[in-house]
Amino acid sequence: MYKELRKPFQYSRPDFKANGRAAGGKKKAKAKNMQSTLKRLWMYLSEKKGMLFLVVLMVVASSGLGLLGPVLIGRAIDHYIVTKQTQGLFLLLAGLAGTYFLYSLSSFLQSFWMIGIAQDTVQKMRNQMFRHLHSLPISFFDRRQHGELMSRVTNDMENVSSTLNSSVIQIFSSLLTLVGTVSVMLWMSPLLTIITLSIVPLMFAGLKWITNRTGVLFKEQQSNIGELNGYIEETISGQRIVKTFSQEQKVILDFMKKNKRLRESGFWAQTFSGFIPKLMNVLNNLSFTIIAAVGGIFALKGMITIGTIIVFTEYSRQFTRPLNDLANQFNTLLSAVAGAERVFEILDEKAEAKDESHAIEVKEIKGEVEFRDVSFSYEKGGDTVSGISFIAEPGQTVALVGPTGAGKSTLINLLSRFYDPDIGAIYFDGVESRSIKRASLRGQMGFVLQDSFLFEGSIMENIRYGRLDATDEEVVEAAKQANSDSFIHKLPDGYQTLLKQDGSGISQGQKQLLSIARALLADPALLVLDEATSSIDTVTELKIQEALKRLMKGRTSFIIAHRLNTIRHADQILVLHSGRVIEKGTHETLLKNKGFYYELNKGVKTT
Ligand code: ATP
Repeated sequence: MYKELRKPFQYSRPDFKANGRAAGGKKKAKAKNMQSTLKRLWMYLSEKKGMLFLVVLMVVASSGLGLLGPVLIGRAIDHYIVTKQTQGLFLLLAGLAGTYFLYSLSSFLQSFWMIGIAQDTVQKMRNQMFRHLHSLPISFFDRRQHGELMSRVTNDMENVSSTLNSSVIQIFSSLLTLVGTVSVMLWMSPLLTIITLSIVPLMFAGLKWITNRTGVLFKEQQSNIGELNGYIEETISGQRIVKTFSQEQKVILDFMKKNKRLRESGFWAQTFSGFIPKLMNVLNNLSFTIIAAVGGIFALKGMITIGTIIVFTEYSRQFTRPLNDLANQFNTLLSAVAGAERVFEILDEKAEAKDESHAIEVKEIKGEVEFRDVSFSYEKGGDTVSGISFIAEPGQTVALVGPTGAGKSTLINLLSRFYDPDIGAIYFDGVESRSIKRASLRGQMGFVLQDSFLFEGSIMENIRYGRLDATDEEVVEAAKQANSDSFIHKLPDGYQTLLKQDGSGISQGQKQLLSIARALLADPALLVLDEATSSIDTVTELKIQEALKRLMKGRTSFIIAHRLNTIRHADQILVLHSGRVIEKGTHETLLKNKGFYYELNKGVKTT
């Protein structure tokens, strides 16, 4: 995380695909373990057993009533219309109207209640997921692409939600309708039923032919949408880079190419999927013709009644629809199960290791920090940093310098206990870090990073983030100490000026000043400063240096330095190279040694 915060304008290609997927929508993935995922989903749903029972009741009722309608119509024809008997016809028609009314009511109730169950379920899952995400160790976030995680929290969850909302009911009711329709048809005329069902294989063959093609085409379309969205996101968040390298034309051309590809795949995917209703229509008409022709012959021979023919024509429509629905919904269901599986994978991730049972709370530390022979690697068997030993006395300033990848951020990650050493130990006021509760240790630390974390809210709220119970006066005092008060007063609404999440509206330097104010308010014993590399005007730079001096006074501070002239006064400079401290000392002694630091200062080597 630390690294992420330090890289404000990362032109992050790796996140690109995953982000695209997040924005791209429903990418159909197959569930690896369908059975256990369904079981787990059921565990959530079963908490609402009572409501589910009512939903099932309504589905059965609506399916039954849907079947009853045509039977009543057939009866009206056979018993009253053909025989020209009006007595009782109106009663039957009233019954028919009642049937359709109850059908609509039960359909409405089933979806109303099911939506309630689905929304409660995903609300609970979302809460669990979000809570769990915040209990996971930093190593988890370091391993994952953020776009992909976002996709799980939003896209996959939405997939589960929409499927629970409607598809589950639809599948259940389609199955019931299908079984019911065929049963009634068989009961009325087995022969005509078999003839009517003769179009089913034709329908399956047609559907299979189309879905085989649309499956591939939709996948292609989704991946093209994902790619396009990813590109849009990438170029918007990387606008600064696009502009500084004058890449606008290239970016537009690339976009047009991707957009063209999306157009192609979209055209064919939509065209082929548009064949499905047309095919169903043709088959419906075919079945209608078969029933009318064969049914007509049967009726003439007195084998069946006219009413039965009407019922069959109605039913022939009723069973092609659920078959079509089933084919469609099954795909959606599969992708929702895959989505749920991806959500559960996160829920199954191991939370950050609990504090040791004997771990203590630290209320106030003096600020002595010792690294004793610390080695650590992100990957097993590697050595990102090794044999690190140094002592920072309370109130001292320790500067970390070294080329990129030397391990400076890693030392800070270890200091903050985002990771623990593989070998050796870190001591705070002589107490081993593992014996201190993480939250209380982090509570003693303040961070001023290159990319100050600002959130949507007023300047007052943003500074108060350092200490939530601080009064307005304390916030203003901290801002004054951080040389921020004067620029805040010049803003339209002063301390109440609303900031956007990305902090747009104020300058890079002002953001740094605000984060210094925030750290001053938090009044931590230990400080981590990541010096800004981005160019800041000299006046603001001076203000920052002055505010930092005030902030660092009396606190043990660790500075990741990129410009060497700012660390001349550090009590200790640790020169890191390939994960080892190769030189250690003050600016003067290190210059005298004429080693790596000396070369860095001459500008021969760069950080
Ligand atoms: P820079 O000045 O460029 O930020 P740094 O000195 O802070 O570099 P580190 O970020 O500590 O260097 O990285 C040290 C090494 O560890 C590098 O080789 C880096 O690729 C690797 N590394 C950093 N973070 C991770 C991680 N989360 N997982 C695996 N390897 C990592």
